[in-house]
Amino acid sequence: GPYTEVVDAEVQEALDGELERQRTTIELIASENFASPAVLAAQGSVMTNKYAEGYPGRRYYGGCEFMDRVELLAINRAKELFGAEHVNVQPHSGSQANEAAYATLIEPGDKVLSMDLAHGGHLTHGMKINFSGRTYEFVHYGVGEDGFIDYDRVREIALRERPRLILAGASAYPRVLHFDRFREIADEVGAYFMADMAHVAGLVAGGVHPSPVPHCEVVTTTTHKTLRGARGGMVLCREEFASRLGSRVFPGLQGGPLMHAIAGKAVALGEALRPEFKDYARRIVENARALAEGLMEGGLKLVSGGTDNHMMLVDLRGSGITGKELEQRLESVGVTCNKNMVPGDPEPPTVTSGVRLGTPAMTTRGMGPGEMREIADIIVRAARGETDGLRRRVLALTEAFPLYA
Ligand code: PLP
Repeated sequence: GPYTEVVDAEVQEALDGELERQRTTIELIASENFASPAVLAAQGSVMTNKYAEGYPGRRYYGGCEFMDRVELLAINRAKELFGAEHVNVQPHSGSQANEAAYATLIEPGDKVLSMDLAHGGHLTHGMKINFSGRTYEFVHYGVGEDGFIDYDRVREIALRERPRLILAGASAYPRVLHFDRFREIADEVGAYFMADMAHVAGLVAGGVHPSPVPHCEVVTTTTHKTLRGARGGMVLCREEFASRLGSRVFPGLQGGPLMHAIAGKAVALGEALRPEFKDYARRIVENARALAEGLMEGGLKLVSGGTDNHMMLVDLRGSGITGKELEQRLESVGVTCNKNMVPGDPEPPTVTSGVRLGTPAMTTRGMGPGEMREIADIIVRAARGETDGLRRRVLALTEAFPLYA
C-alpha cells in the first residue's frame, strides 16, 4: 500500500534502529507496551490525511463517511468493553483527556483532591507548572507508611478541604484502587468523583482490576498502556455529561481529531474485546507477582511490599544506589525502566531513590513467571554492581520471545 514504504533514508535509519532496540531489550517501563501489527497498520494509514472536526454525523468537513464509520466503531467498542454510557475517543493523549474531564465537571479555581505526585500521582493531577495546577486548586492525599492509600485519611482530608472533585488514579501505585470507597467519600462531601484509569485500563478491560466506571461521573484513560492500543486518550462518562464533554474536547481544546489514531484505537478496542485479552490481563498480573517475589527474594525492597497490578516500585533507600544509577546500569545491559520517586523520597526527581517496573510489554512478548524470575535475578545482580554476563542473559531472553517476527 501507499503507506508501507518509507523512502526517507534518515528517518528509516531511526525506525530500523528503534525496532532493533525494542527487539533486543527487556522493556519494563510500566506505561509501555507493544501494539499489534494491526494497530500499527491502522495508525500508519490514509486516515491521517483527513480533517473531521466535529462528531460522527455532525462534521464541519465533507467526505467524512469513513471517518464516521471508524469513530463509531471505536466509540461502540469502548462502550461495550467498559460498560460506559458515553465515550469520547478524540482526546489526543491522556493529558488532554484529563483537561477535558476537568473542564466538563468543574470551573477554573475549583478545588480538586487527588493523589500526591510524590506518592504516584500524575503531572496532570495538579503539578504546579502543569495546566492542572495552574487552572485549579489541588490538594492531595497520599499513601501511608505501609505504602497503601489510607481511605480513612482520604475521608478526613475531603471533610476538611471540601473539594468539588475527587480524583482517583496514579502513574505509580502498585495496589488495587478501591473506587467504591472513593465514591462513598465523594458522596459524603458532595463532590464529583472522577477516575484516571490510564495505567490499569487493560486490567479493568480484562476483569482483573475493579472498574471505576459504575462509580464515577467521568473516567479518563490513555489507550496505549496496559490497553495495548494506539497512543492516545479517551474519556468515558455518564450520559448527562456527554454533550458538555463533547464541546470541551472540540472546539474547547482540540481542532481536527487524529483519525489515524482513532482507527488505531478502534482496532485495539476490538482486540481487547476478544476472550484472549482476559488471559493477557491475567498474565500481566501473574508476571508482576513473580517479578516482585524474585526481587524481594534477592533482597530488594518494594514499596508496599509487593504488587496487585502490573507494576511495582523498588525502594532503593539504604541500598547504596540511586534510581538514576540503577536505571542507567540496567540500560547498559539492555533492560529499560525508569527512575521514580518513592513516597518520602529524600532525592530530587532527577535522581530519585526508586525505579518503577512493569510487566505489560514483556507479557505481550509471551514471557511468563519463569522469565520474570530470570529478569528479577538480572536486576538484583545489576543493583549489586555484578553486571558481568547480564547483557548476554538479556539477549537469550529476547531471542527466545521474538517481537514482530
Ligand atoms: N494519567 C496517568 C495516570 C498517566 O500515567 C499518564 C501517562 O503517563 C497520563 C495520564 C497522561 O497520558 P499522556 O502521556 O498520553 O498525556
